Amino acid sequence: QDFSGLGLAAPLLLALNKLGYTAPTPIQAQAIPHLMTGRDLVGIAQTGTGKTAAFALPILHHLITHPQQAPRGGARVLVLSPTRELASQIAESFRSLGSEMQLSVQVVFGGVPHGAQIRALQRGLDVLVATPGRLVDHLDAGAAHLGKTEFFVLDEVDQMLDLGFVKSIRRVVGTLPKRRQNLFFSATMPTEIAKLAGELLNDPVQVSV
Ligand code: AMP
Repeated sequence: QDFSGLGLAAPLLLALNKLGYTAPTPIQAQAIPHLMTGRDLVGIAQTGTGKTAAFALPILHHLITHPQQAPRGGARVLVLSPTRELASQIAESFRSLGSEMQLSVQVVFGGVPHGAQIRALQRGLDVLVATPGRLVDHLDAGAAHLGKTEFFVLDEVDQMLDLGFVKSIRRVVGTLPKRRQNLFFSATMPTEIAKLAGELLNDPVQVSV
């Protein structure tokens, strides 16, 4: 199976070709069709399985097929990630998969000055990849407004809970619109995480690799 059967928009097929990705990985083959229909999804998958492209491709497809002004102070797509390294990698994946389309991507994490992040938020973003702590700082300061978010991705949920981010995640979720598509990825699914998924997601499909 190659990527052409998934119905992805031409700029994405071009980017995949340039990246040398010829066939979807198992998580991509399983997740992308469900995500293209707008379903919420729980993915049980480790890093290295291709899960970033599994969520980035259908999200980018939606941005191409539903063009819209990026919301000031926020983003059409919000990805929460536990660490600055992972957040930066996810942002880089969106940039490379989105290289053949118009796309604004910003990463937001702690340990660096607020100014450049606030200015990027003010302009409005297609994709915001953030660690929970710094995003909450921006919310508290009135610099981030997430009420127009269309996609909410929680990546490496088990790591985020280990790092004590559950309160920050709930604070962020409280500012999101009710109507949104939710994607939830974790390498493991103990009871605590399954419970959080049950709270945040709306009738999700589950894929496991
Ligand atoms: P991830 O699990 O998202 O961290 O991805 C692991 C690695 O696989 C990354 O370096 C991606 O660039 C690469 N990758 C993702 N999807 C594909 C694919 N369909 N074909 C080849 N490489 C891929």
